[in-house]
Amino acid sequence: MRRSFAIISHPDAGKTTLTEKLLFASGAIRLAGHVRARGERRRTRSDWMEIERKRGISVTSSVMTFEQDGLTFNLLDTPGHSDFSEDTYRTLTAVDSAIMVIDAARGIESQTLKLFEVCRLRDIPIITFVNKIDREGRDPLEILDEIASTLALDVTPAVWPLGMGVDHRGCLDLMTGRMVGADGEPGPVDWPDAERLVAAVPNRDDPIVAASLEELEIAHSSLPAFDLEAFRGGHLTPVFFGSALKEVGVRELLRAVAEWAPSPRPQPAAPEPIAPDGEEVSGFVFKVQANMDKNHRDRIAFVRLCSGTFRRGMKLRNVRSGRDITVSSPMFFFAQERETADEAVAGDVVGIPNHGTLSVGDTLSEGRSISVTGIPDFAPEIIQRVRLSDAMKAKQLSKALNDLAEEGVTQVFRPMTGSDWLIGVVGSLQLDVVASRLEGEYGVPVGFESAGHETARWVVADDPAELKRFIAANRSSLATDRAQAPVFLARNAWALSRIQQDWPDIGFLATRERV
Ligand code: GDP
Repeated sequence: MRRSFAIISHPDAGKTTLTEKLLFASGAIRLAGHVRARGERRRTRSDWMEIERKRGISVTSSVMTFEQDGLTFNLLDTPGHSDFSEDTYRTLTAVDSAIMVIDAARGIESQTLKLFEVCRLRDIPIITFVNKIDREGRDPLEILDEIASTLALDVTPAVWPLGMGVDHRGCLDLMTGRMVGADGEPGPVDWPDAERLVAAVPNRDDPIVAASLEELEIAHSSLPAFDLEAFRGGHLTPVFFGSALKEVGVRELLRAVAEWAPSPRPQPAAPEPIAPDGEEVSGFVFKVQANMDKNHRDRIAFVRLCSGTFRRGMKLRNVRSGRDITVSSPMFFFAQERETADEAVAGDVVGIPNHGTLSVGDTLSEGRSISVTGIPDFAPEIIQRVRLSDAMKAKQLSKALNDLAEEGVTQVFRPMTGSDWLIGVVGSLQLDVVASRLEGEYGVPVGFESAGHETARWVVADDPAELKRFIAANRSSLATDRAQAPVFLARNAWALSRIQQDWPDIGFLATRERV
């Protein structure tokens, strides 16, 4: 039984704190003793890791596995830094559910919204944790309302705060009808039986408590009840009020992940979706991390298994390249450590060391020729011209950029007029990673400069003749991507909306499936 999930949030909402507390609540932070430390596995720090160290941030999403009550939780971490990379987004293609952390005083913030939208593309069920209720926050009803209206999502409270900040008197667990943290075995209630819930609250005469209960009544009468199907379809989010720091509501949250969050879901694929209980092993690469010894160009491909029982030493086919690989040293990742993976099932994430044979979006399969679909490229938010310091290295540069684009580290574009390389990224930190890998791994030092474009959109049309006309009329603003698909480069948002108006039969897409 697996629960593979991610935590999404705006920086500072409390994702890191919550992650730690979840690991702690599960009582299953793996001890170092579990890990077979081997000398040869000690990695030289790569340039990439130097960036992490210098800036004191984590560039890469990692995976943390923990267990509780016979369930295995795979928590896929996304970088907490404000610079988004495409890794962050793609990680969400490898989860079955997500916890959305919101700061009780700030509500939905810009990056919460962006990440939520990616979840919505795949109808990923979301559990909401409204954090920091130990401080002054907004009124719970107001927060619920904001979630519902901003995200166009049904909301229903699951843990209710009795006052916030200095007035905080505890929380009522609406799933069990007990106070959060109260002793005793939780018994399920006929949710939402408001009367029984209220009876569980000890100090109902306290004006703060009484006011909170009144608000709860309003919530109950105006909001839908929890509905597992609506939740799993991504239409309704249960909302937990709590405090990661003070460990309020964290156990309840973990229980919700265990009880409500779905097991591995069927994976969209062509020619047909992959059923998680299928016998044949299959999986896909959602992220490639190049933090290994740079002299060997080693990298780890993070593979989410979609079906079958994977065993170490197994031979799998990379469907894209047609090449077979023998997976001799797959890895599992725990809070701080990694460990050889002997066996893994659907929903698990294994790291496969390789020398560049595996790219983001690749499908691995035991036999069938099947390709996972829906791994997106995202319209870049930063587009820069690559300035080569040494003109003699043009050929190396073009190979290196193609490699990095294949790997999913950056996107590359060739303008239809001109011979410059443009690279497109989602977060500026990605630029540093690209520069440092170009120099460190390929010996090609580069600089970046503005190319005068702020955003890009893939252009498509039902009518090929219309697309042709569009391209002929706009060549100087067009480029091709790695797969030769046409991309419109816009000076700014205004220019983009202008061209959209001028060409109503052309589609301008902000995401494109990797091919
Ligand atoms: P992240 O950027 O989302 O990973 O956020 P962090 O977990 O690093 O938390 C950001 C700041 O908020 C830190 O100073 C935390 O100590 C603080 N914080 C996190 N959770 C809580 C909470 O429940 N209550 C309060 N008062 N502070 C919190």
